[in-house]
Amino acid sequence: MADPGRLLVVDDEQSVSITIKAILEQEGYEVFAVQSAVEALDLLAQRSFDVALVDLRLDRVDGVDLLEAIHTRQPDCVAIVLTGYASLESAVRAIRKGAYDYLTKPCDLDELKLTVARALERVTLVRALRERVADLEAANAKIRSLADDLQRRVDQATADLSRKVDELAMANARLEEAHRQRDEFISMVVHELRQPLTTVGGYAQLLARPNVPPEAQEQARAAIVTETRRLARLVQDLADVSRLTSGRFRIQPTCCDLVEIAREQVELARVSAGQQVLSLVAPERLPIVCDPDRIAQVLSNLLANAVKYAPGGEIRVTLSASEGHALVSVSDQGPGIPEDRVEAIFQPYVRLAARGAPPGSGLGLFIARGIVEAHGGRIQVESVAGAGSTFVVVLPREAAVRPAPVEETVGA
Ligand code: ADP
Repeated sequence: MADPGRLLVVDDEQSVSITIKAILEQEGYEVFAVQSAVEALDLLAQRSFDVALVDLRLDRVDGVDLLEAIHTRQPDCVAIVLTGYASLESAVRAIRKGAYDYLTKPCDLDELKLTVARALERVTLVRALRERVADLEAANAKIRSLADDLQRRVDQATADLSRKVDELAMANARLEEAHRQRDEFISMVVHELRQPLTTVGGYAQLLARPNVPPEAQEQARAAIVTETRRLARLVQDLADVSRLTSGRFRIQPTCCDLVEIAREQVELARVSAGQQVLSLVAPERLPIVCDPDRIAQVLSNLLANAVKYAPGGEIRVTLSASEGHALVSVSDQGPGIPEDRVEAIFQPYVRLAARGAPPGSGLGLFIARGIVEAHGGRIQVESVAGAGSTFVVVLPREAAVRPAPVEETVGA
């Protein structure tokens, strides 16, 4: 059952306070009746009241002061003043001070009951209103926190999205670069295949003609052999790249003399060199465990590049041995390699875009690095732009020999 309401009656006329208490208790309220302001303040300190009926003319204390005290201590408690006709003026004063209503003494019974019932209803309404306001404030706070949360999530999602957009833009740029390199590679392969094929075709037709002088026949045969070698080299390079990128590349290490390999490659390079002077600075012998064909291929590539890209001056091959390692360097006096490209040139299909650069596939240094690394070694270039390049190969003399199955052949 709902709380019937707790009332405080303050009147210094005992008969009045007792009568009012009795009447209101009959209405089902819990009623406390006292005759002085001191007693009233005492009770107010012990329990809370819904309605206080206060006589305005209390002994020693102005009832209005008591009203103020009630209002300060229990702001929810609704005050009704009890007053005689003579003090109507003070009743008005009391109402101005916040009293809810007034009753003139002697009180009409029905009016008393009705006024108290209305006051209690007001108390209930005020409390309900306060609860609603509290509910609304809680709902508001929740909405605010949800809105903040939503904003945080939107911010987070926006940041994620913009990061993804950046990543996509980067991936797209990489893809475009990969497409560009692939297109370049295809045109390079077409170019590299077409040129020797045209030459071979032309010379073959020449040889088919009657009465070709023996010198022209010899020149045609030599050109066919050279161009066929060039084709075979390209096919071999493509096969190597495919093995290197798929992890199927293997070497066959064996004991050999690095000086012998280098001497042979320098001799071969001398044949194709133009203005350059090729020299070899090496000890008598430099025994090493390596795959001689593959190391010869590395040297051949470095020397061919020096001949191609460094048109004059000296090309020097230097061999030396240090603690467990063999060092081979190939230096030239050509244009050198810009500092920011010294790593890039070891990537497949990367060529420095020099005007009128000799033809090439951009695969040689990638394969050279693959071969050297398969031996457990490393290759790098030291270069001063405009003052030549030095390619340095470091190989372990005992080769970090990986188990070497039979070397695959082209097309395998
Ligand atoms: P290719 O010679 O077929 O282009 P490489 O992988 O052997 O391919 O070389 C990559 C690029 O590195 C060359 O295109 C050239 O621009 C540059 N390069 C290589 N060696 C030298 C060198 N000795 N001097 C200057 N540039 C060089």
